[in-house]
Amino acid sequence: MTDLHRLSIRELSEGLKTAQFSSRELTEHYLKRIAHIDPKVKSYVTVTAEQALAEADAADAALKSGNAHALAGIPLAHKDIFCTQGIKTTAGSKMLDNFISPYDATVVAKAKAAGLVTLGKVNMDEFAMGSTSENSYVGATSNPWALDHVPGGSSGGSAAAVAADLAPIATGTDTGGSIRQPASFCGLTGLKPTYGRVSRFGMIAYASSLDQGGPMARSAEDCAYLMNVIAGHDAKDSTSINKEVDDYVANLNGTTVKGLRIGIPKQYFNVAGLDADVKARVEESLKKLEEMGATLVEIDLNMTEAYVPTYYLIAPAEASSNLSRFDGVRYGYRCENPVDLMDLYKRSRSEGFGAEVQRRILIGTYALSAGYYDAYYVKAQKVRRLIQQDFLKAFENVDVIAAPSAPTTAYKIGANLSPTEMYLGDIYTLAVNLAGLPAINAPVGFDKDSLPVGLQLIGNYWSESQLLSIVHQYQQNTDWHTKRAAIAEENA
Ligand code: GLN
Repeated sequence: MTDLHRLSIRELSEGLKTAQFSSRELTEHYLKRIAHIDPKVKSYVTVTAEQALAEADAADAALKSGNAHALAGIPLAHKDIFCTQGIKTTAGSKMLDNFISPYDATVVAKAKAAGLVTLGKVNMDEFAMGSTSENSYVGATSNPWALDHVPGGSSGGSAAAVAADLAPIATGTDTGGSIRQPASFCGLTGLKPTYGRVSRFGMIAYASSLDQGGPMARSAEDCAYLMNVIAGHDAKDSTSINKEVDDYVANLNGTTVKGLRIGIPKQYFNVAGLDADVKARVEESLKKLEEMGATLVEIDLNMTEAYVPTYYLIAPAEASSNLSRFDGVRYGYRCENPVDLMDLYKRSRSEGFGAEVQRRILIGTYALSAGYYDAYYVKAQKVRRLIQQDFLKAFENVDVIAAPSAPTTAYKIGANLSPTEMYLGDIYTLAVNLAGLPAINAPVGFDKDSLPVGLQLIGNYWSESQLLSIVHQYQQNTDWHTKRAAIAEENA
């Protein structure tokens, strides 16, 4: 079969169960595509061909015995921020160029237990800091829709791999938009779950109070399958919640769009820098949802101007603390011939971290230092609470909130935006993490340059089923999610 990469997760699951093809054939098919097409996309940092084939054989044996998990034998790619036992985990940093974790992240362990096959680890901005994936020490990944454009970030490798049909699904992480924005730039569906829904154990920490893992795929249905595997309480992550997990697949038709109240924040659609095509496509998608029976309700989110400064204070503060462990002593990069301990710390960190990571460590350390702590960090925490309350007030009157995922489509590689210009591009995604809410990106068309545009739907706490269901029904009535980049049409 030459078109196995066209199949959805449900179709792959059925095909494997009924022995139309084996996991080995499917895995070989993807490995071949990666070998032929990924040199142009550069989404993978590490391809684990040998291990993937062994996992595929094990899945085939389980499938034969008749008691395999629904996803057994289906390949996936992991963002290189999830620790994988025996496989290099770099987090996109020279600091971890040779780091081999002695254990699996819970997300990875759960995927393995379900019989999913790991194709490899995919590229990302260093320590998940960025919006283009250019901040990776191995270099930029291309957007499959236009190879001279970025796939977004920080989970840009995950997005590019799925969009080029080099993996049917991928894991990503989202601290301030890193699942939703690359999903938007690459025409994919990506879900950022409620904080605490997916275990952070073994996910290299950027900003611990904001980080959350989630699925990236071609459709809401595919995301639902992966959510069924990775969601749930984990005793190894004290911030994961002990709350029953929905059956996201069974619930795909559980929410009716008819009668759904969708909040449209006035402030969001007047943002300077919102591209006209993005605005038009998002408004058309909302019109479609209206035709399907939803009611659009104008709402106020008055804290919008505070999102960027609040996030870019709290996230670097937490990062400066989390990244202090990379000191060249226990693991990670160590400079050559240190003259003393201070020199070892200083040069290992200066040589091991890239410019953006160093910028954030400096900002975070400053904001947390005695004398500035109350003025910056404590103040930002108070504003964070106000941002959360703004959302909770809105949810008294609407079921979900609609927004673009990003004000623009994908940037050109090397566009060299200043840090503040880059940070402003995160305007629509940051508040969701500050409030700990779930949100989803769905592809809703293209701009004048044929680059994908995404709609973001933000839900109340634990509303993942509802978000997936709304997008699923939108996708039953539209075909944007079935569009493929030209490079994905290439056969290996
Ligand atoms: N672009 C944002 C940042 O650079 C978000 C990144 C993320 O979600 N990991 O921090």
